[in-house]
Amino acid sequence: MKSSQEEQLRLLELQGIDIEIARLDYRARTLPVLEKLEQAERGRDAHKDLAIAGEAEHSDVEAELMRAESDVEQVVGRIEKDQKLIDSGTVSAKDLENLLGELKSLGRRKEELEEVELEVMVRLEEINGRIAEHSSERDRFQLEANLLSAERDKAVAEIDGARNSLLADRKEIEGGISKELLDLYLKVKDVNGGIGAAKLENGQCLGCHLQINAVEVTRIKALPHDEVVRCDECRRILVRV
Ligand SMILES: [Zn+2]
Repeated sequence: MKSSQEEQLRLLELQGIDIEIARLDYRARTLPVLEKLEQAERGRDAHKDLAIAGEAEHSDVEAELMRAESDVEQVVGRIEKDQKLIDSGTVSAKDLENLLGELKSLGRRKEELEEVELEVMVRLEEINGRIAEHSSERDRFQLEANLLSAERDKAVAEIDGARNSLLADRKEIEGGISKELLDLYLKVKDVNGGIGAAKLENGQCLGCHLQINAVEVTRIKALPHDEVVRCDECRRILVRV
């Protein structure tokens, strides 16, 4: 391929800009704030899930408490009924004996049920505490995530600004390079880790940093200036300067 020496030098300039852009892209991908933000979001989600699980548990235990309360009420109702009968003085001696026996066992049953009720209330208290704790942790992480998001947006905007200015320079330089040479550069760059063109300096390809043997260097140097040379080792476009 033929291409003027001027175009080949422009290609080196383009390469320099592409390296800068790749650096900016890398910086944008690896901003330390991104990891911190991810951690904050993970923390927020974990506590959010735990708070939701707590709410579900709370509903179940609340239903349990209502059942326990209704059990106690039922027994209390029967005690009151029996007591009324006794107080009315209309029952026979035998019935009175039966009623008193029943009242005794109902009293024991009431105590048992009240204990169950109390235990459920304690559990409900504990669940409420847990929900409050996870909700506050969730909010704390959310607040942290908001601050980190703003920090990330600021850093990304700065990088984008630098990137846009480089892209404008790139476009201008690109305009001075033939499509054929540009296509070759882009193709080589894609398969060579972002470096498509490199200087030949002191007999060394600055793309792969391998020393080219003296005979080959002499041959390359003797080629016409507009001859596009490729490195034998890495196949990058080798620009003589
Ligand atoms: Zn090379």
